[in-house]
Amino acid sequence: MTSSQELFDRAKTLMPGGVNSPVRAFGSVGGTPRFMVNAKGAYLTDADGRDYVDLVCSWGPALLGHAHPDVLAAVHTAVDHGLSFGASTPAESELAALVQGRVSGVERLRMVSTGTEATMTAVRLARGFTGRDLIIKFAGCYHGHLDSLLAAAGSGLATLALPGSAGVTAATAAETLVLPYNDLAAVEAAFAAHGDKIAAVITEAAPANMGVVTPGEGFNAGLSRITSANGALLILDEVLTGFRVGAAGYWGLTGASEGWTPDLFTFGKVIGGGLPTAALGGRADVMDYLAPLGPVYQAGTLSGNPVAMAAGVATLTAATAAVYATVDARSLELSTALSLALAAEGVDHSIQRAGNLFSVAFGTAANGVHNYADAQAQEAFRYAPFFHSMLDSGVYLPPSVFEAWFLSAAHDDAAMNRIFAALPAAAKAAAAA
Ligand code: PMP
Repeated sequence: MTSSQELFDRAKTLMPGGVNSPVRAFGSVGGTPRFMVNAKGAYLTDADGRDYVDLVCSWGPALLGHAHPDVLAAVHTAVDHGLSFGASTPAESELAALVQGRVSGVERLRMVSTGTEATMTAVRLARGFTGRDLIIKFAGCYHGHLDSLLAAAGSGLATLALPGSAGVTAATAAETLVLPYNDLAAVEAAFAAHGDKIAAVITEAAPANMGVVTPGEGFNAGLSRITSANGALLILDEVLTGFRVGAAGYWGLTGASEGWTPDLFTFGKVIGGGLPTAALGGRADVMDYLAPLGPVYQAGTLSGNPVAMAAGVATLTAATAAVYATVDARSLELSTALSLALAAEGVDHSIQRAGNLFSVAFGTAANGVHNYADAQAQEAFRYAPFFHSMLDSGVYLPPSVFEAWFLSAAHDDAAMNRIFAALPAAAKAAAAA
């Protein structure tokens, strides 16, 4: 028996499903989840001493690669000054200023600990600011596990084929309108019917939790136009894309040049450099509705934690244009090689892209994936054998077809060559499924 198997057997007696986040359980790909004991650069090492080229990158944060020396040094220095003060610290303003310098629409920022907290607070703030109750979200977009946004939420729910979550009251669900992604006409229709009751539209800047989906030309700009024409707010969820697809996130690739800015942004993952930090930010008049200035309450014992702030500051400081250029180039090389390997085995597929994020969908070559219905209609069964073939060759992919593949600036030629060498056998396995 492997150490991972022993560890998983023990974990299952201690934690539901043996995990602390569902997709880690390998539910849709089967087999024993690997228990990891070390992460360095582009590699993970499991409890059995096997190493893997990591294409999960902690689900996004490890943009620089794992355990980047600058980040570790900053964390070590911070730790030497104490772990948590329960009071304001200079580093919070340092990180907020770095964010503001990159994303001009962030006039004020509030640090929280997880992406879920960021979107939860953004929704409450939008309701408090507008005095309205309804929220529009898009099917297949995941914004964390807050009650009001769990309907048709992609990510682990898609992986487990769940429509939503038990435990969410009907009253809460009724306050969320779920619309098809990439369908501005549906948004217009919802505003025509309920315009004076809609507090906000929340959308992933580019969806990456139903696999990756490219926002159609003008879609995000259209959301900005419709919300502002109707006195509602646009919340752009950049938890996954922020500081990963570019210095100013997906908004920086699109909104900045198209001339629109959301009212609120949410951030997570890269902003904390691998430690638990997330944030929401945006228009000062909206953000100032938060306590202590305003009536919308939000707080956190570990918000702005000094060690996490140090990791975030070091990560954003090290995330130079060269880092983004490397990740962009690696992403293009890998997605191209993946597509060629699948084509060589006659596997019908589409590569889904948004900036340097990509994923593969099977049986979708004719039309691609533009919304959740497309994502769910794909030949998802081809992913498990593909995934396990890659794993056997020492490449750790996201254990679900509904997740993006994540690269880092530490994915050097040796790491890439291992992935390239693994692709033909995995493509054969997908073809045989
Ligand atoms: N929003 C998006 C777009 C995400 O991808 C995620 C997590 N994958 C979240 C919110 C929630 O973040 P967290 O897991 O830190 O709560």
